[in-house]
Amino acid sequence: MRKGLAVAAREMLREVSRLIEKSRRPLFLTSAGMSADSNIPTFRDKDGYWKNFPPFKEKNLEAQDLASPWAFRNELPHAWAFYEWRRRNARANQPHEGYRVINKWLRRRDGFIHTTNTDGLHLRSGCRDDRILEVHGSMWRLQCLDVCTREFWEEHSVPLCDLDTATMTASNYPACKNCRGIARPHILMFGDGEYSGHPAQEKSFARFAQEPPDLAVLVGSSGAVPTNDYIALHFMERGTPVVNINPTSSGNRIVNTEYFLEMKGEAAFVELERIAGDDDGDEELRRR
Ligand SMILES: [Zn+2]
Repeated sequence: MRKGLAVAAREMLREVSRLIEKSRRPLFLTSAGMSADSNIPTFRDKDGYWKNFPPFKEKNLEAQDLASPWAFRNELPHAWAFYEWRRRNARANQPHEGYRVINKWLRRRDGFIHTTNTDGLHLRSGCRDDRILEVHGSMWRLQCLDVCTREFWEEHSVPLCDLDTATMTASNYPACKNCRGIARPHILMFGDGEYSGHPAQEKSFARFAQEPPDLAVLVGSSGAVPTNDYIALHFMERGTPVVNINPTSSGNRIVNTEYFLEMKGEAAFVELERIAGDDDGDEELRRR
């Protein structure tokens, strides 16, 4: 039985590899599971969150409470501490091999990355900045908390704020470049009507999505934030084959595609690259 399953999984990997080889306009839809393989916590799992942040547990401040404009107005030291911690964590970790594999495929294809992740790992791994929409924003950009302007700007300093990890309070907050008030992450938070968005990235995606892609690859989606699942479904209904890479079978509930790889993102991309290896021989040689 075990062996039978392994053979089926191997067949599916080959099938997916063929789809990717054939594709000229693939759309990669990446979510929390992609980041998790680079040790970026998702905070969907409440226990892990409480364990990381005992001071928030004492005050009963959940991740969704802190990731909100409300928290930046009412619990500023904790709200910035939460993001300062995440910036430091993201900086301390590296984009895994899966990011490199996607970038390598995109060098020869007219594809696109649509990500719900805010850790900036796709751009850090070297993807083209006109080939990505960070649809929920990025922790490496800031905007004005009071939206005195819709402008946003890059801010890559680590550390950015002072952070007392014992109490999880931050101080020395970044300032708005325009009004000198408090700046906040350029991220679409919970209950957030003030995120200023990224018109250039949004325009790139709108241009790409004028025609359905010839392949959509959904990676590490979580039922809690199914933004990417619904984009995949939208294109699937217009004839685009959808590959779904997810270590839990419930992750295939929304798209319910036949091309389902029950795997983590990094492992799947490394395997797919290995299978396609011969066709990309010159690239392989250069890496060695
Ligand atoms: Zn301002």
